[in-house]
Amino acid sequence: MTFASLGLIDPLLRALEALAYNEPTPVQKQAIPAVLAGRDLMAAAQTGTGKTAGFALPILHRLTMEGVVAPLSVRCLVLVPTRELAEQVYDSFRTYGRNLPLRYFVAYGGVPIEPQVNKLRKGLDVLVATPGRLLDLLRQDAIQFKSLQTLVLDEADRMLDLGFSHDLDLLFMAMPKPRQTLLFSATFSDAIRAMTKGLLVDPVSIQVSPRNTATKTVRQWLIPTDKKRKPELFLHLMKKLRWGQVLVFVKTRKGVEQLVQMLLEEGIAADAIHGDKPQPARLRALDRFKTAQVQVLVATDVAARGLDIEALPQVVNFDLPTVAEDYIHRIGRTGRAGATGEAVSLVCADEVDLLAAIEKLTGQVILREEEPGFEADHRVPATGGAASGPKPPPSTKKKRPFTGPPGGKAALAAGGGQRPATPATAPKASGFKAPGAKGSGAKGLGAKGPGAGASVPRGAVVVAGGRGAKSVARSAAKASAGGAAGGQRKGKAAGRGPSR
Ligand code: AMP
Repeated sequence: MTFASLGLIDPLLRALEALAYNEPTPVQKQAIPAVLAGRDLMAAAQTGTGKTAGFALPILHRLTMEGVVAPLSVRCLVLVPTRELAEQVYDSFRTYGRNLPLRYFVAYGGVPIEPQVNKLRKGLDVLVATPGRLLDLLRQDAIQFKSLQTLVLDEADRMLDLGFSHDLDLLFMAMPKPRQTLLFSATFSDAIRAMTKGLLVDPVSIQVSPRNTATKTVRQWLIPTDKKRKPELFLHLMKKLRWGQVLVFVKTRKGVEQLVQMLLEEGIAADAIHGDKPQPARLRALDRFKTAQVQVLVATDVAARGLDIEALPQVVNFDLPTVAEDYIHRIGRTGRAGATGEAVSLVCADEVDLLAAIEKLTGQVILREEEPGFEADHRVPATGGAASGPKPPPSTKKKRPFTGPPGGKAALAAGGGQRPATPATAPKASGFKAPGAKGSGAKGLGAKGPGAGASVPRGAVVVAGGRGAKSVARSAAKASAGGAAGGQRKGKAAGRGPSR
């Protein structure tokens, strides 16, 4: 199947050709015809599946073919949970729509509202916004929804997690029906079902990969240790396994800063991304990581959700997430689009319940591997027979060290995108040169390590189970049928944070 066969207009096809998007991804194959036909959509699709183009392309097509902009009005509204995602989605619209005479804009909190008010005066074809700021704009009469044709809720589950439920309800009340509504969510909880009640009309339900098997290509393992030893263990693993670029998840903002500080003191290029950081600093950190000026990006879940970072071989859960589903999102940063990746979790006794919840959700017991010298004094209790299976063969994996930014963005991107799956051996180190690497490279964990000479490295497990496609589809169907009211307003962390 080609994009042309989906009936997209020529200016879009030219933009896609320039981007070397040769073939629609599975979510695009399903979403584009449905959106072009004016249908509502309920899609279980995660970041990394190409979902943004899945809705942006047919929306741009329709906006070009039908109607014009009126002052103060917006024709398509895309609501997203965080500023980072807002920027990414906005960039996507501009990129895909660069040959079209349409007006795009992005609005989120934490920055002065006046320029946004001014920008809205002439009207917009596409506005990407976080719910809180959009509500502020609406209250100031800076925007009207009367010409709204299409509403997109992107990462709807995350918007609810961040406490935007009330803001969303107020926004929905101000929007005209009929309109086209497209809902994208990685998960379909009761709260999502409640929110979507009455929102979608006869939606087309699509799901691309069962939510808990999105991580098939990611090798996962964990190391039990004591909480206080984690920073030292992380550093030890970095050196021993000669990790290239690493995305590290830490529970708290303070924890993020502490780890970054320690890494910098060790001479490792590291940066942080969390909700307390001003927006320019967050974007700069992300950019430095993407262009390989920084080796380690340390992030909290909120800040890292939805980040489009391609071809990342290594994710580390320095702390386990408190919400089990975030584990799937975290490790989804690696192994994207068929590439292989590794995710290791450093787990202390306090986290055993979180571990059990993750294993229940994924339907897999994550294999444990003790690291000599870092064994836990406070034993991490076994969860469902952890590490009781046969041991995989010892490591023969070659690891490549990080050697800075010579290949820059291109090098980072070279290992990812829509490439076919690579065999489960050494992750492609994004083109980084390894001047010091000889033979098998690092000794890795040696006989104990997560090597990958065979298809499954020692101490690693390939997640292949979890909730199946049918079940996800059932959830989506149920969601359209509605449910109990829910969705707590917990605060407005990311959408309205500090200024950029
Ligand atoms: P998303 O899931 O929307 O965050 O997209 C993930 C990545 O896939 C982005 O970097 C897109 O540029 C890229 N992408 C989306 N669709 C395609 C396609 N059909 N071919 C190649 N790359 C794509």
